[in-house]
Amino acid sequence: QAKAAGRNTLCFFDPAMQAAATERAALHADLHRALRDRQFELHYQVQVDEKRRPIGAEALLRWRHPARGLICPSSFIGLAEETGLIVPIGIWVLRTACIQLAAWAARPEAAHLRLAVNVSARQFRQAGFTDQLRELLAATGAPADRLKLELTESTLIEDAEAVVERMEELRALGIRFSLDDFGTGYSSLAYLKRLPLSQLKIDQSFVRDVMSDANDAAIVETILGLGCSLGLSVIAEGVESEDQFAFLTARGCREHQGYLFGRPMALRDFEALLAVLHD
Ligand code: C2E
Ligand code: MG
Ligand code: MG
Ligand code: MG
Repeated sequence: QAKAAGRNTLCFFDPAMQAAATERAALHADLHRALRDRQFELHYQVQVDEKRRPIGAEALLRWRHPARGLICPSSFIGLAEETGLIVPIGIWVLRTACIQLAAWAARPEAAHLRLAVNVSARQFRQAGFTDQLRELLAATGAPADRLKLELTESTLIEDAEAVVERMEELRALGIRFSLDDFGTGYSSLAYLKRLPLSQLKIDQSFVRDVMSDANDAAIVETILGLGCSLGLSVIAEGVESEDQFAFLTARGCREHQGYLFGRPMALRDFEALLAVLHD
């Protein structure tokens, strides 16, 4: 029924829709070429402790498009997920992240850094994902216990049995998990308790107005309490002001990420920032 309606809708000529479809098709073709032509980059955003000391980074994907310039993931991750291209792209991200972790592990001043990598649902559920990661870790020499996979509640909610099993396989390799955008999904506390998580990541939408919106402040406090009672660390994302940072640290939040400490940046700039923060 819905399919038939969808087909009918396409019979009407709608220039705007036509343009959007053409745009998508062009983007799809470009996305295919992007992997082959090495147009992807990882940028790094620092994560700090309550004393602003760097403890790691989140790796964020960027696409250096030959005509459109630097493209942020919100413009292409959705399409990459729909088309399945997210799987090879995600492998490239993980390989690049592991190579970087191995390089840091060999340098005393950087050896403590953890690297958080976003993994999409489709990639996480892929058969052979655990084997791929095991091989990547072995091939690169990256320390598994410094690698943190960021999953979202929507990734975890479907097929709970399989998800728990997959997480436990990866956990056995030493890999940690952080639950990204936490508070925006629908996971029940009973379910959360079953997952081998290390960390909750407070969604930036709650941090943004934490100083002015009593509801957001209450949500942030609740997540911090939840982390404490479940034995999970909590990291706040989107920390932009000193006030927000003070609010969070006063309530026991010990890990922070946001423009206040650094934007996502190319590796060279990230390493320069580390050197400054280190002193
Ligand atoms: P996310 O994992 O929740 O990443 C946080 C986003 O917030 C990043 O946007 C980051 O640049 C932005 N951000 C960080 N600090 C601040 C701040 O203080 N203020 C504000 N306003 N924003 C801040 P970005 O890099 O555009 O990434 C967007 C989303 O794309 C990510 O959300 C993640 O879901 C997805 N993504 C990024 N890289 C990858 C990847 O390698 N694989 C997959 N599957 N998804 C990725
Ligand atoms: Mg993330
Ligand atoms: Mg997030
Ligand atoms: Mg997000």
